[in-house]
Amino acid sequence: MSQKIPVAVLGATGSVGQRFIQLLENHPWFEVKEVAASERSAGKPYKEAVNWVQSTPIPESVKNLTVKNCEPGLESKVTFSGLDSSIAGEVETAFASKGYAVISNSKNHRMDKDVPLLVPEINPDHLQLVKYQKYNGGLIVTNPNCSTIGMVLALKPLADAFGLELVNVVTMQGLSGAGYPGVSSLDIIDNVIPFIGGEEPKMESEPLKILGEFDPTGIKNIDIKISAQCNRVGVIDGHTECVQVKLKKKASIEEVKKAWINFSAEPQKLKLPFAPENPIYYFEEEKYPQPRIHRNLDKGMAVATGRLREDKLFDYKFIVLSHNTIRGAAGGAILCGELMKAKGII
Ligand code: NAP
Repeated sequence: MSQKIPVAVLGATGSVGQRFIQLLENHPWFEVKEVAASERSAGKPYKEAVNWVQSTPIPESVKNLTVKNCEPGLESKVTFSGLDSSIAGEVETAFASKGYAVISNSKNHRMDKDVPLLVPEINPDHLQLVKYQKYNGGLIVTNPNCSTIGMVLALKPLADAFGLELVNVVTMQGLSGAGYPGVSSLDIIDNVIPFIGGEEPKMESEPLKILGEFDPTGIKNIDIKISAQCNRVGVIDGHTECVQVKLKKKASIEEVKKAWINFSAEPQKLKLPFAPENPIYYFEEEKYPQPRIHRNLDKGMAVATGRLREDKLFDYKFIVLSHNTIRGAAGGAILCGELMKAKGII
């Protein structure tokens, strides 16, 4: 039996970092050997540095690890990053330049020409970009923004089958998306905040690259227009999105549902450990999907769609829901790592 790949989690104390630690417990291919965070945490045992808010206990194998500084010099050559974006850019560049593989959730490198913005079910071919990176044997692969991932998974089968022209989306995003401790209770209880810094431009630009075509000189963006409005709501985990689409080719409601239900891609073919059995579930019940009920669907890695109906302005409107720290962050990045291992990149 081959040995597991030792990995380090950068930003291990944060909202996404904790999810990495939780989800990587007993992972068949990866084993968390090192944890790193800011100077505030470095030098402490992980269990003292972290304010653990997951529903399962801190894994035994991690709780006594000493938190390290986020500096190259770690023994694990594969790193999962949940670093704050204020420092992720330079730290991830430093690691990649010293030969590490960095799989990141942060925004900083997502739009770099030679960096894949990877959703394994959608654009596994974009991984070829790492061949063109100038990181001295190291590499950077990124995961999209948490609200983008759910939406693009629902859009991909429609883009393939009918073509897309226009997308309008209004989000209701969970609190864990703001990191820990995030939004203060006095701001969010009995309230909705109609602004999330930087979120709308990300939702309007990232899907163009993800759904774009591989080219060695940089991905050729898909030619669609997206308009996004993002709101923070008092839900702990789960981003719910109201989406409207205009298609290039006419399609019936049944054809759209079929495109979602039959959607299956490379991670499912390869039976990657974190791949959901079905990337997309469609719910016929009018009141579904709901974050509290559906966010953990298929290990928290699937997206739930529902309420597909004709739209007077566009062609169709529907709801999509996904787990922001699992599919939208740590789980999605682990799936990227699994695809990279299956392809011999790490
Ligand atoms: P978070 O809870 O605020 O955690 C940030 C992490 O970065 C902590 O481990 C923190 O360590 C570390 N850190 C902060 N300053 C540092 C420094 N100067 N040097 C080294 N480490 C430092 O944030 P989060 O929600 O987990 O998000 C992490 C990243 O993932 C962000 O870039 C975010 O945009 C992205 N993301 C988040 C989500 C989500 O749903 N939350 C989804 C997708 C992507 P200390 O504890 O020691 O301060």
